Amino acid sequence: MSGWLFHRIGKQVEKLKHQTKCTRCDLYFQKNLSECNHCSHLADSELAALISQRKNFRMSLGKAMLFGAVLFLLATFFLAKIFNST
Ligand SMILES: [Zn+2]
Repeated sequence: MSGWLFHRIGKQVEKLKHQTKCTRCDLYFQKNLSECNHCSHLADSELAALISQRKNFRMSLGKAMLFGAVLFLLATFFLAKIFNST
Protein backbone atom coordinates (compact mmCIF):
# COMPACT_ATOMS: atom_id res chain seq x y z
CA MET A 1 0.00 0.00 0.00
CA SER A 2 2.68 2.51 1.05
CA GLY A 3 4.85 1.28 -1.80
CA TRP A 4 2.07 2.17 -4.15
CA LEU A 5 1.82 5.63 -2.59
CA PHE A 6 5.55 6.28 -2.95
CA HIS A 7 5.34 5.09 -6.50
CA ARG A 8 2.56 7.59 -7.15
CA ILE A 9 4.47 10.46 -5.48
CA GLY A 10 7.62 9.54 -7.40
CA LYS A 11 5.68 9.64 -10.64
CA GLN A 12 4.24 13.04 -9.73
CA VAL A 13 7.71 14.41 -8.92
CA GLU A 14 9.01 12.94 -12.15
CA LYS A 15 6.21 14.70 -14.00
CA LEU A 16 6.97 18.03 -12.34
CA LYS A 17 10.66 17.71 -13.23
CA HIS A 18 9.72 17.73 -16.88
CA GLN A 19 7.48 20.72 -16.46
CA THR A 20 8.22 24.37 -16.18
CA LYS A 21 6.13 27.20 -14.82
CA CYS A 22 4.91 29.71 -17.32
CA THR A 23 5.78 33.30 -16.35
CA ARG A 24 2.79 34.55 -18.29
CA CYS A 25 -0.10 32.48 -16.94
CA ASP A 26 1.48 30.75 -13.91
CA LEU A 27 0.49 27.30 -15.17
CA TYR A 28 2.86 24.40 -15.72
CA PHE A 29 3.68 23.12 -19.16
CA GLN A 30 5.99 20.50 -20.65
CA LYS A 31 9.61 21.64 -20.83
CA ASN A 32 10.06 20.20 -24.28
CA LEU A 33 7.46 22.58 -25.67
CA SER A 34 8.90 25.83 -26.96
CA GLU A 35 5.96 27.82 -25.61
CA CYS A 36 3.24 27.41 -23.02
CA ASN A 37 0.29 25.43 -24.33
CA HIS A 38 -2.09 27.26 -22.00
CA CYS A 39 -1.54 30.84 -23.06
CA SER A 40 0.68 30.99 -26.15
CA HIS A 41 -2.42 31.13 -28.36
CA LEU A 42 -4.04 33.84 -26.23
CA ALA A 43 -3.75 37.57 -26.74
CA ASP A 44 -2.82 39.69 -23.73
CA SER A 45 -6.41 40.79 -23.20
CA GLU A 46 -7.65 37.18 -23.38
CA LEU A 47 -4.96 36.11 -20.94
CA ALA A 48 -5.97 38.87 -18.51
CA ALA A 49 -9.57 37.65 -18.72
CA LEU A 50 -8.46 34.08 -18.07
CA ILE A 51 -6.41 35.09 -15.04
CA SER A 52 -9.19 37.19 -13.51
CA GLN A 53 -11.61 34.32 -14.18
CA ARG A 54 -9.31 31.94 -12.32
CA LYS A 55 -9.00 34.41 -9.43
CA ASN A 56 -12.77 34.74 -9.22
CA PHE A 57 -13.16 30.97 -9.26
CA ARG A 58 -10.66 30.60 -6.42
CA MET A 59 -12.41 33.30 -4.43
CA SER A 60 -15.84 31.74 -4.90
CA LEU A 61 -14.38 28.35 -3.99
CA GLY A 62 -12.94 29.87 -0.81
CA LYS A 63 -16.29 31.45 0.01
CA ALA A 64 -18.12 28.18 -0.59
CA MET A 65 -15.69 26.34 1.68
CA LEU A 66 -16.06 28.96 4.39
CA PHE A 67 -19.84 28.76 4.07
CA GLY A 68 -19.66 24.98 4.33
CA ALA A 69 -17.47 25.19 7.42
CA VAL A 70 -19.88 27.63 9.10
CA LEU A 71 -22.83 25.39 8.25
CA PHE A 72 -20.99 22.39 9.66
CA LEU A 73 -20.19 24.25 12.87
CA LEU A 74 -23.79 25.41 13.24
CA ALA A 75 -25.09 21.89 12.61
CA THR A 76 -22.67 20.47 15.17
CA PHE A 77 -23.67 23.15 17.65
CA PHE A 78 -27.40 22.47 17.25
CA LEU A 79 -26.94 18.71 17.32
CA ALA A 80 -24.94 19.02 20.52
CA LYS A 81 -27.71 21.18 22.00
CA ILE A 82 -30.39 18.65 21.02
CA PHE A 83 -28.43 15.75 22.45
CA ASN A 84 -27.65 17.64 25.64
CA SER A 85 -31.26 18.61 26.26
CA THR A 86 -32.61 15.07 26.04
ZN1 LIG B 1 1.29 30.21 -20.08
